[in-house]
Amino acid sequence: MNLILLGPPGAGKGTQAETISSKHGIIQLSTGEMLRDAVKAGTETGRQAKALIEAGELVPDEMVVGIVSERIDRPDCANGFILDGFPRTLGQASALEKMLDEKGKTLDAVIELRVDDEAMVERITGRYSCSKCGMGYHDKYKQPAKDGVCDKCGSTEFTRRADDNEETVRARLLAYYRSTAPLIGYYFAKDRYNYVDGMAEIDEVARQIEDILT
Ligand code: AMP
Repeated sequence: MNLILLGPPGAGKGTQAETISSKHGIIQLSTGEMLRDAVKAGTETGRQAKALIEAGELVPDEMVVGIVSERIDRPDCANGFILDGFPRTLGQASALEKMLDEKGKTLDAVIELRVDDEAMVERITGRYSCSKCGMGYHDKYKQPAKDGVCDKCGSTEFTRRADDNEETVRARLLAYYRSTAPLIGYYFAKDRYNYVDGMAEIDEVARQIEDILT
């Protein structure tokens, strides 16, 4: 099963992708995560992507299309994958269609997580994670049980994404509405489009997604 999760930054795509991944044994592919890894590793791709990511702008289509194409060829994607944060432009969507065709794979569903924009800014600017195990937290909605100590691994070090500040979040929202939102019409026309209420509780969103997948 191959899926796309659509929605603005902070809609919960990563959280839901994790649940779907463990339930269905398919791989979560986040282009944002891959690009951040490339920045950390100091590769040529990372070097080119860094300033764009920090400004909340999209990286060029060729950069992410290449990364995704190479990634879905790996054996762990044979059962299927969830694309989280890709495609983000109509150009990426047609490149994806072409690459799936060439690889003999199909796209089973596109699911949009529908959310309220103002709530997104609050959700994103408050989020942080454990530096050691990656467990996600939020200033307002999900604090560790013991102040300053990760619930999962006990680490006392936390980190915030460089692009999770209000100014960059607004730039990311703009990029979403300018370049990514047209994909909703695109996939509707292709009869692949579905949506869930991304403002519902996490478990309820997961339930609505399951209804679509089964
Ligand atoms: P995300 O983790 O999905 O919020 O992505 C973080 C940042 O990585 C975005 O704001 C973009 O700068 C870049 N990025 C991630 N995925 C893509 C993509 N498919 N196309 C262009 N830029 C991307």
